[in-house]
Amino acid sequence: LGTNGEDAAKVMMVLTDLTERRQAERMRGDFVANASHELRTPLATLIGFIETLRGPAHDDAAARDSFLELMQQQADRMSRLVRDLLSLSAIERNEHAPPQAPVDITAVVERVVAALRLEAAKKEVTLAVETAGPVRAVIGDEEQLTQLFQNLIDNAVKYGRTGGRVRIHIDESPDIPPALPQAPRERPVLAVVRIAVSDDGDGIAPEHLPRLTERFYRVDPARSRAVGGTGLGLAIVKHIINRHRGILRIDSRPGQGSTFTAVLPISQ
Ligand code: ADP
Repeated sequence: LGTNGEDAAKVMMVLTDLTERRQAERMRGDFVANASHELRTPLATLIGFIETLRGPAHDDAAARDSFLELMQQQADRMSRLVRDLLSLSAIERNEHAPPQAPVDITAVVERVVAALRLEAAKKEVTLAVETAGPVRAVIGDEEQLTQLFQNLIDNAVKYGRTGGRVRIHIDESPDIPPALPQAPRERPVLAVVRIAVSDDGDGIAPEHLPRLTERFYRVDPARSRAVGGTGLGLAIVKHIINRHRGILRIDSRPGQGSTFTAVLPISQ
């Protein structure tokens, strides 16, 4: 730089904070590694069984039957995983396109409950839908909302108590939570609809609560796999709620069950 002010060269510095970009890159990398790992385990098991069936167990009818049963389980697990991965990526792709159609939440929940009754009956779990009066329609994506309640109610059945009860409580409230995302000016929020799914299972220790919606985060990985979990259900729930500009609340205490509440805006 020159010493006298007039002919001093000018320097422009551009500072870019790359923290967020680097973090996103790392998360993407972790995600691919986790997903591959989740697929690799059942795949390795399947390959092992195929080798055994072609070799030592070739003429053993009893072994064949039990191996085929185990192979079926592993293949089903891979298929659930791929289904959830595809659905997560589809939801992420349109997360910033707001949904457009009015949806009757109570009707959606009733349909999901009807479809899950058989699964619940296997665990002797009763499903009860309670409504506190009529609720207005939500502007939403019916297919995604169906998936949202399917995942929450399915989890309540899976992690709830055998012989227990799952309650789904639906109401409309004029109290708009401060945490609700800002609505576009042309569509102010008039009220919210709250859908609370409660079970009477073991509950979740507080240190896990903030991480439950992370992909592949599980409190007890072995238990999740034993009940057919992929570790992606709540990540899917979270993305669907984001797209609907709502919030997810999780209340749980060990030994006292869990309540997952979706709060969705009713807008003009
Ligand atoms: P998963 O396929 O493992 O069920 P989710 O994303 O649906 O994956 O849930 C993540 C984890 O959160 C589960 O593995 C389980 O540990 C915990 N979880 C979810 N719902 C409940 C519930 N109703 N009661 C207790 N734990 C739950």
